[in-house]
Amino acid sequence: MTTPDMPAAPVQQIAMVSCLNCRSNFDVVASSFCGCIARERTFACPRCGVCACHASYSQRQSFLDGAPAVLHERRRRERTEGVGRLQATDPETVQRPFALIVDDDPLVLAVAERAVRAAGYSTLVTSSPEEAFHIAAALLPDVVLTDALMPRLDGRELCRRLKSSYWTRNVKVIVMSALYRGTIHRNQAFKEFSVDEYLCKPIKPTVLRDALDRILPHIARARGHMRELQAAS
Ligand SMILES: [Zn+2]
Ligand SMILES: [Zn+2]
Repeated sequence: MTTPDMPAAPVQQIAMVSCLNCRSNFDVVASSFCGCIARERTFACPRCGVCACHASYSQRQSFLDGAPAVLHERRRRERTEGVGRLQATDPETVQRPFALIVDDDPLVLAVAERAVRAAGYSTLVTSSPEEAFHIAAALLPDVVLTDALMPRLDGRELCRRLKSSYWTRNVKVIVMSALYRGTIHRNQAFKEFSVDEYLCKPIKPTVLRDALDRILPHIARARGHMRELQAAS
């Protein structure tokens, strides 16, 4: 029993979740975030060491739907502190080639992320174009893949900002759009906003892959070379 002048002992909280990889149960309150370069890191399973950063969008959603309140609180904090943490990250530690993907539609993010990863890139996704600018300035991605029409900052404008900043001017930018589909918009994107590639939505993985290979041919060549080495061994 506690009296008013005696502080209550802190309540030891435990929140068990099931690992998406090995299915063993672990306590997320006691677990640390993983070491991935991510906008929002996930928890590393103490048994197999695998985090949920590479889980699919639907897998993550169903995991979060059943997650305890304490986990949502830790995620909320992670979201608020995420950009500052990334800005303090040394770009040399990022696994290359590295792509930053910006879209406010989670399903587009999921499709684009899968295609870009299949092309051998490590990825970081965000739904905020303003945040994307700060992350890009800190981590210098090889490519930024962004939606054109987003609230607050148009993806084409994000591209113009990146191209007009000394630090980020060499970052390649692919703009995707469902709305501005005509030739006029396409030409305008190249001329006025200095995009490197302009793609119409819905995004086809093969089209995205070809666009990446066109603007970053040295990465495509390195991937081809890796395949040859693997085939030969
Ligand atoms: Zn595990
Ligand atoms: Zn992770």
